[in-house]
Amino acid sequence: MELSNRQEKIVEIVKANGPITGEKIGEHLSLTRATLRPDLAILTMAGFLEARPRVGYFYTGKSHSELLTDKIEHMFIKDYQSVPVVLKEDSSVYNAISTMFLEDIGTLFVVDNNGLLSGVLSRKDLLRASIGQKDLNSIPVHIIMTRMPNIVMCKKDDLLIHVAREMIDKGIDGLPVVKERDNGYEVIGRVTKTTITNAFLELVSNRQFQV
Ligand code: ADP
Repeated sequence: MELSNRQEKIVEIVKANGPITGEKIGEHLSLTRATLRPDLAILTMAGFLEARPRVGYFYTGKSHSELLTDKIEHMFIKDYQSVPVVLKEDSSVYNAISTMFLEDIGTLFVVDNNGLLSGVLSRKDLLRASIGQKDLNSIPVHIIMTRMPNIVMCKKDDLLIHVAREMIDKGIDGLPVVKERDNGYEVIGRVTKTTITNAFLELVSNRQFQV
């Protein structure tokens, strides 16, 4: 975030004199408190300053990168996950390919008769299964999917940054967000590299961290 000249000055004044009221900051700059209100709001929202009622403004002492780290450490899966698309184990490879196109996604999840997670299907899984095969309607997805217990999963309260790390370390494009049940895992969401890219863009489009 690029601070304006006036915002830089406010930070300096609070650093030197805090805790200090908005009124007093205004006196230092020969401006009214009302004029400063938008700047104080931005500096407080961005985490440079902290406002305590009836006391005034404090300098938090946090650098740009510390503030960015704080923000990343509050990005949880539940706030970014998208809707999962699931197929039954006896769905055909043909049906899986059609579903990928229709839903415009690259990772599908497979569930068993109890509706619990049993497999993952990626684009390459389906390409591999299609090579040289004439009748894709006759091959059920459970034959070609990556199956439990080898599925990398995440929970809604996991940090987005940890899941991003998992994707890179395990070389996968997506993970199911699951909820633990007595005899397995229910699929409640989907996190993919697109999710991470969108979250990254949101971070920089946010005024606080404009690039
Ligand atoms: P693509 O195959 O389209 O490049 P991925 O990199 O996601 O997509 O998939 C690579 C392999 O990893 C595939 O065989 C797929 O079944 C498997 N895979 C994908 N996601 C997971 C996951 N969450 N857990 C375990 N295996 C996965």
